[in-house]
Amino acid sequence: MKALNTIRLVFPSRSVNEGFARSAVAAFAAQADPTMDELADLKTAVSEAVTNCIVHAYADRIGNVTLTAALYGDGTLRVTVTDKGCGIPDVAKAMEPLFTTGGPERAGLGFAVMTSFTDSLKVYSGPGRGTRVVLEKRLGRR
Ligand code: ATP
Ligand code: MG
Repeated sequence: MKALNTIRLVFPSRSVNEGFARSAVAAFAAQADPTMDELADLKTAVSEAVTNCIVHAYADRIGNVTLTAALYGDGTLRVTVTDKGCGIPDVAKAMEPLFTTGGPERAGLGFAVMTSFTDSLKVYSGPGRGTRVVLEKRLGRR
C-alpha cells in the first residue's frame, strides 16, 4: 500500500529531542483524526523508542536518530526510529519484560510498553549495526 503522506526527521540523540520527537509525531498523526487515547499511546511508544537511542544506542556519545512516519489510507500510521549505535546482540531477550542492561535506574519495560501501546512492533538490530524499531498504530477507530 502506498503512503498518503510521509515525514522524515533526523536529530542528534540529545535528551531534549525526546519531547520534540513525540510532539512531532503527534502533530503529524493529527491529520488522521485520532482519539486522545490513540495519541497518548502513540506518543508514549515513540518516546520509549527515542529514549532507547539516547540512553542505550549512543550511551557515551551523541549520534543521529532518524525518525520517519507514514500514514496509509486505512488509518495506519507506521513510525520507524533508527540509530547507528551499538546495536542489540539478542533482540528477543532484550524485548522480554524487565530485561535491561541499563542498571538500577532502568525498569526494562520500554519494549513491553511499545508492544502494548501499538498494533505492531518490529525490532531489527545487530551488534555494531545499530537498531531500527518499526511500530504501527491504527488511528481514528471511533
Ligand atoms: P526502560 O525503558 O524501562 O527505562 P530499558 O530501556 O532498559 O528500561 P527496554 O526499553 O525494554 O528497557 O530495552 C531493553 C534493553 O534493550 C535495553 O536495556 C538495552 O540493552 C536494549 N536496547 C533497547 N533499545 C536499544 C537501542 N536502540 N540500541 C541498543 N540497545 C537497545
Ligand atoms: Mg527503554
